[in-house]
Amino acid sequence: MRIAMIGTGYVGLVSGACFADFGHRVTCVDKDGGKIDGLNAGVMPIWEPGLEALVKSNAERGRLTFTTEVASAVKDAEAIFIAVGTPARRGDGHADLTFVFEAVRELARFTRPGTVVVTKSTVPVGTGDRIEAILKEEGAEGVSVASNPEFLREGAAIADFKHPDRIVVGAEDERAQDALREIYRPLFLNRAPILITGRRTAELTKYAANAFLAVKISFINEIADLCEAVDADVQDVARGIGLDNRIGPKFLHAGPGYGGSCFPKDTLALLQTADKAGVDQRIVRTTVSVNDDRKAHMVERVSQALGGELTGKRVGILGLAFKPNTDDMREAPSIPIVNGLLERGVKVAAFDPVARHQAEQVLSGVEFVDDAYAAAEGADAIVIVTEWDEFRALDLDRLATSLRGKILVDLRNVYDRAEAEAAGLTYYGIGRGRPSSV
Ligand code: NAD
Repeated sequence: MRIAMIGTGYVGLVSGACFADFGHRVTCVDKDGGKIDGLNAGVMPIWEPGLEALVKSNAERGRLTFTTEVASAVKDAEAIFIAVGTPARRGDGHADLTFVFEAVRELARFTRPGTVVVTKSTVPVGTGDRIEAILKEEGAEGVSVASNPEFLREGAAIADFKHPDRIVVGAEDERAQDALREIYRPLFLNRAPILITGRRTAELTKYAANAFLAVKISFINEIADLCEAVDADVQDVARGIGLDNRIGPKFLHAGPGYGGSCFPKDTLALLQTADKAGVDQRIVRTTVSVNDDRKAHMVERVSQALGGELTGKRVGILGLAFKPNTDDMREAPSIPIVNGLLERGVKVAAFDPVARHQAEQVLSGVEFVDDAYAAAEGADAIVIVTEWDEFRALDLDRLATSLRGKILVDLRNVYDRAEAEAAGLTYYGIGRGRPSSV
C-alpha cells in the first residue's frame, strides 16, 4: 500500500520504517526541515536500537522516503497516518491537539476520495469525530477516519512494532477496517491479535493502558516505601506477587517514579477527559499525585544518604534518559533530581551513554562526563538514576576507589546490598531495608 506518515518523530519514524519493511511504500513527512535533511543523508534524529539499519535498508530499496512536503506525500497515499506530538497543554494537562488539527487541515487539501486518515498519535476520545468535521470543512470528500493507537516502547520500539501484543483499530466503516487489516497483514501472519473496535473505544483504550501501567508503577513504589519502614525487601515482594499470573511481573520495579513522553501526559489527559465527562477517576488522580511527590522526594533521599547536608557536596549521576536504550529526556526523573541537587548547592557530574546531547538542552550547570568512573571521581555519593545495562556490571571496587564518600544511592535497585558493601560502599536502594552500617 502507499502510506504517508505525518510526523517523523519516535513513533512516526519507527512506524514508517517498519511499514516499509513490511513491503509498503512509505513517505514520512516532517515540518522540521533539519530532521528531513538529516534522514535523507542517513542521519537518525533519535537514538533507537536497530533503527538506522532499518531506515537505511528500506530507503535504499526505494520503499521509504522523507520530505517536508505534505502535498507530495499524501496525494497518492491510500492511508495517511498522523503521528505528530500531542503534549500536555500548559496549565490544565489537556492533550494539546494543535499539531494534529494543523496536520489535518494541511493534508485535507490533497487527499483523494477513498483515502483513510488514521491517528497513531495518542488522542483523546472524540478526536476522530473532530478530524472528520475538519476534513468536511476543508472539502475533503469520501475520506474515512480511523484510530490506531501505538503501544511501542522507546528503547525496544522496532521489536514492539513488529511483535505487538495486539493491534487496536478503531474504525466505523469497512473500508477503513479493510485498509488497516491490509497494512498490518504481515503481522497477522505472525498471529498478532487485531482488535477492531469503535473509534472512541480505540482512542480510550490507549489512555486506559497507559494509566493502568502508571498505577502499577505507583503501587509498587508505595509498597517500596512500606518495605523501608518495616525492613522488608520490595524486590522479593515484587517477585512474590509478580509470579501470580493474575498480576504478572512487569511494571513492578520500584524506582524514582515514572517519567517519559507518555505516562505523565496521558494520565493527565485521561483526567481531563474524565472531568469533561463528569466521571471522577480517583485511582488515576491519586497515581498522578503519588508520582509527582515521589519524583520531588528523590533529592531528599540523596540528602539523607549524605547525612542531611547537601551544600558543597559533589554527586555523580549515572543515567539521564527517562529510561535505558533511548536518548529521550522528556519528563525524565533525572531532571527534578539534578535540578533539586543543584538548587541545594550540590556540584553535579553526570554520565549517560547516549542522552548527553538531549540532556544538555534541558539541564544547565551540570558537568557532563564520559563514563561512570569519571562521574564518581571525587564525589561524595554516586546515584544510579537510569538502569542502563552498562551500569549493571560496574567494577564496584573501582567505583569505591574513585568516590570520596563511599555512598551508592541505587534508585533502580540494580545492585544487591551485599555486593555493594563488599566493595566498601554504603548502599541505599529503593524499598530494601536499611544499610547494615546505619
Ligand atoms: P515526537 O515529538 O518525537 O515527533 C513528532 C513529530 O511530528 C516531530 O518531529 C514534529 O516536528 C512533527 N510534526 C508536528 N506537526 C507536524 C506537521 N503538521 N506536519 C509534519 N510534521 C509535524 O513525538 P512522538 O514521541 O513520536 O509521539 C507522537 C505521538 O505518538 C504522541 O501522540 C505520543 O503520545 C504517541 N506515542 C508516543 C510513544 C513514544 O514512546 N514516544 C509511544 C506511543 C504513542
